[in-house]
Amino acid sequence: MRKRYFLPLLWGLIVLSMMAVSVFAETGESNYPSITVGVPSNRCPIFYQEEKTGEVAGIGVELMRQAAEEAGYSVSFQVIQEETLKEALDNPAYDVIMPFGSAITSASGQSTIVSENLMETPFAFVTKENHEKRSMDELRVGMLHSLGGCIETLHQLFPNLSIVEYDTMQESVKALRAGEVDALLHNSYVWSYVLQKPSYQDLVIQPTAVFSMDFRAGAVDTAKSHRIIEQLNKGIAEMSDTRRQAIILDYTSRRLYHYDFSDYLYQYGVILLLAVLLFAALVIIAVQKIHAVQKEQEEKLRQMMDHDPLTGVLSLNAFRKKVKELLISYPDSQYFLSYSNIRDFKFINDSLGRAAGDDLLRFWAKKSMEYLSDREAICRVSGDHFVVLRYIPSEERMREDEENVFKPVENYFIRQGKTNRVQICSGIYVLTPNDFKQIDVDHMMDLALVAEKRAKENRKISYAFYNQDQWEKGKRAADVVNALPEALQAGEIQVWYQPQVNYETGAITGAEALCRWKHSKIGWLPPSEFVPILENAGLIFDLDSFVWERACQDLHRWNQQGIHRTVSVNLSREDIQEGKDIPEHFCRLIQTYDLSPDQLHVEITETAYAENPELLINTTQQLRALGFQVEMDDFGSGYSSLHMLKEVPVDRIKLDLHFLTSSGDLDKSHIIVSAMIQMVRQLGIELISEGVETVEQAKFLQSKGSFEMQGYYFFKPMPVEEFEKLTVSSKTAQ
Ligand code: C2E
Ligand code: MG
Ligand code: MG
Repeated sequence: MRKRYFLPLLWGLIVLSMMAVSVFAETGESNYPSITVGVPSNRCPIFYQEEKTGEVAGIGVELMRQAAEEAGYSVSFQVIQEETLKEALDNPAYDVIMPFGSAITSASGQSTIVSENLMETPFAFVTKENHEKRSMDELRVGMLHSLGGCIETLHQLFPNLSIVEYDTMQESVKALRAGEVDALLHNSYVWSYVLQKPSYQDLVIQPTAVFSMDFRAGAVDTAKSHRIIEQLNKGIAEMSDTRRQAIILDYTSRRLYHYDFSDYLYQYGVILLLAVLLFAALVIIAVQKIHAVQKEQEEKLRQMMDHDPLTGVLSLNAFRKKVKELLISYPDSQYFLSYSNIRDFKFINDSLGRAAGDDLLRFWAKKSMEYLSDREAICRVSGDHFVVLRYIPSEERMREDEENVFKPVENYFIRQGKTNRVQICSGIYVLTPNDFKQIDVDHMMDLALVAEKRAKENRKISYAFYNQDQWEKGKRAADVVNALPEALQAGEIQVWYQPQVNYETGAITGAEALCRWKHSKIGWLPPSEFVPILENAGLIFDLDSFVWERACQDLHRWNQQGIHRTVSVNLSREDIQEGKDIPEHFCRLIQTYDLSPDQLHVEITETAYAENPELLINTTQQLRALGFQVEMDDFGSGYSSLHMLKEVPVDRIKLDLHFLTSSGDLDKSHIIVSAMIQMVRQLGIELISEGVETVEQAKFLQSKGSFEMQGYYFFKPMPVEEFEKLTVSSKTAQ
């Protein structure tokens, strides 16, 4: 029976005790009614939000919590969303708002009540370092718009103070720096926080202008808020000063300021910049290094592809490329291309072994390269076949190669004590001007190979030319070009004169200066051979200026002897084309030798006018303007003689009989010559006929009205001494 009632009784007790606990808890809560306090969050260390929890904290929060607890409230804080505290007063979600210095009206105009003072908050002015002191009345003060209540209190305290409101601290500082306001006013505790910002180092707190404001909670004036404020006041009264000070000290001594990005940038900007630069430099160096390595690898690869691995000479492809480059770079050079191989190379390999054969090829390549300049190239086509592009500075070249390369190769095994003599067979192709225009390396190699076959057939010779004539010409050209400077010095080149006569009177009217060269090795050289060579080599001006000077020296001497003569000198088209100032040059000459300009006739060949009419006509006009006589030489030799007459302003035409009568039907030639003479006379241009070899020719010319003549029929070109004797003895009509 006892057992039957025990369990329900126990359960009843448990339920009762649980109910008692819950009632007790509820009564506990009802003993501490809750109030909501609206606070700003941007006034660290008075009000701010904890970074981690997002909860509102600060001196103001702590003071209010203390007061509320003392007053028997449980308090919660909410960050106000309104722009100003005045607006927040109208929001019924908050029971009280803080902080206020005094009671003000709400944004909607409701009157308010405030609590007792929670603490004295010191306010301070912040200015620029070099701030000019002014009285309070004159001061323009910047404040944050969010301090609306405070601004109103301040207006009550200092009615004349001019206050400018700003939305953010940055804006207000910018305005202070720009001089828009004289000082910024804010709670000192907030300053102590804000001025930790590195970029605000130029701002200073003005110690003299500190004043205090109250720090109260406020609410619109309602019965409920009256009750709350009254209750809170009891709590505030309970708070000791020591407790207040402890709270303030606690928050002002905490390290609450956290650097943001701009602070780091300001503080470490230079270091950051240096670090960025350093990083950039490192990146650039790394990229360059990578490029260099890549290039090096490419170069190695190219080297491997461009070179024959056995001997180190060029591969055939690289050779083709190199030859093209060289011929383009040195278009005026004499070159030959040789195709060489070793007679019975197979036998050497068989009898002495492949390694010995390879050694021989390497030796041959090495010897060849020793004597090659960077204007030349060598490649191994295959096996023992080598091709060389060789520059020909003189006829010595082949002999030198024989001495320096072929002989040591021939004796390679003999010097090692073996009996095998090596024989090289070479085919040589001398490049023609055409090969420089249309560069076809394979074609040149084919021609050299043709010559090589010829050399191979004949056991007595080791090399053969594809074009012997070309080779001879090349050698001769090299001889002429190389010998010129010394020939001019050593008197090998002389100026001869060919008299010009008036056929009717028989008088010598002038002379043409013609150069003669007695080459030390070759003997007498005709100008028709060496003049084109020197023109090609760009050296004709050296020769011509020598001839002109000699002619002027002779004229000067004759002038001093009282004999006034005229001399015609030849001017090469290359003299003008090379950019030489010819009129200037002639002017200097006649000044130096005290001649009158009409004593010098300048002959310019007709074909030159056809090639570069503008330049030639220009020079002709300048020469004539200076008083020199200009003659068109070799008239009739070109293809545009008649057309030329119209275009070119010369003083005299030199009709070349040689060109007009040397071939074809003589009767037709006569018709052409007489028509030309007639035309030239009708144009009013003077005329002289050259190349007159027979009395018939002279008479014919006379009958057509051309009296001035030059030719073997009268005189051949002669040395100056002979010419002087001749003209002194015959009575000249000059
Ligand atoms: P050119 O200026 O037409 O000179 C006339 C050439 O015809 C001379 O030849 C002269 O000796 C030759 N000659 C004269 N009368 C007769 C004749 O009746 N029959 C034949 N068959 N020939 C005759 P040369 O001296 O051999 O000169 C040849 C060319 O060389 C000249 O032709 C001229 O173009 C050039 N030359 C000569 N001396 C110089 C010079 O100092 N400077 C330049 N740039 N060229 C020169
Ligand atoms: Mg001439
Ligand atoms: Mg002539």
